[in-house]
Amino acid sequence: MSRWSSETSKKFILVFVFLFLLYGCATAPVTGRKQLILVDPQTEIKLGLQAYEEILKKEKLCNDPTINALVQRVGMRIAKASGKNYDWEFKVIDKPESINAFCLPGGKVFVYTGILPVAQNEAGLATVLAHEIAHAIARHGAERMSIAMVAAFGEVLAAELLDLNNSRTRELFMAAYGLGATVGLILPYSRKQEYEADTIGLYLMAKAGYDPREAIKFWERMRQAASGRRKIPEFLSTHPADGKRIQALKNLLPQVLPIYEKAEHKYGLGEKIPEPHCR
Ligand SMILES: [Zn+2]
Repeated sequence: MSRWSSETSKKFILVFVFLFLLYGCATAPVTGRKQLILVDPQTEIKLGLQAYEEILKKEKLCNDPTINALVQRVGMRIAKASGKNYDWEFKVIDKPESINAFCLPGGKVFVYTGILPVAQNEAGLATVLAHEIAHAIARHGAERMSIAMVAAFGEVLAAELLDLNNSRTRELFMAAYGLGATVGLILPYSRKQEYEADTIGLYLMAKAGYDPREAIKFWERMRQAASGRRKIPEFLSTHPADGKRIQALKNLLPQVLPIYEKAEHKYGLGEKIPEPHCR
């Protein structure tokens, strides 16, 4: 090994030790799982905002007032249950062929009109939103970025990866949040993160006053929505609606039903979602 590369390695190790001490120990909400996260929350939220602006420029928003009010209402109830004091935004994208939804760090949430018929009612939508919000508040994207950063160890200086103006940082961030369509690369959430988002999501929807039993029906509808399609919907490519997932949700019901019973306002399934009329 040359003198230069051994010095570079030392520098890498120092940067990682420093980052680890600074941000390394995080804890996921609800489950209390310990996480290795090398991205600080402020950087993550700034990257979320950048992505939000980019998506707003690119996508056509749906201006159906009834649909917007409904998404806003369900979203804010879940947001309140999360206890996160973010600058929450809920936007509906007019794309009937897209069965998808996601939440960026910092509370910017997008719902594609294609997922609404699968959601069917407010509780179905609450299932989707609570799951996506759970990924964001448990900082799963930052966790995946950190794994990718460790993998890139020796290639790129970590400090460079945390530079907001670095295109690799933005690319990594987009991929880590499943916005693969934008960069052509998807890092799927791990099974562990999916299970965690389901757990936190179910807890959030119950706390917000939506019947958590509808989550099981929602995932069954998701499964049906995929059958008979030539292309697997985006949401399902990163969120397999298999028997294991549905069984795990059923197993969680005894824990979350008492939370639902104690909710300040109970909405049950809420209103049925009408067909969107985006102009
Ligand atoms: Zn997920």
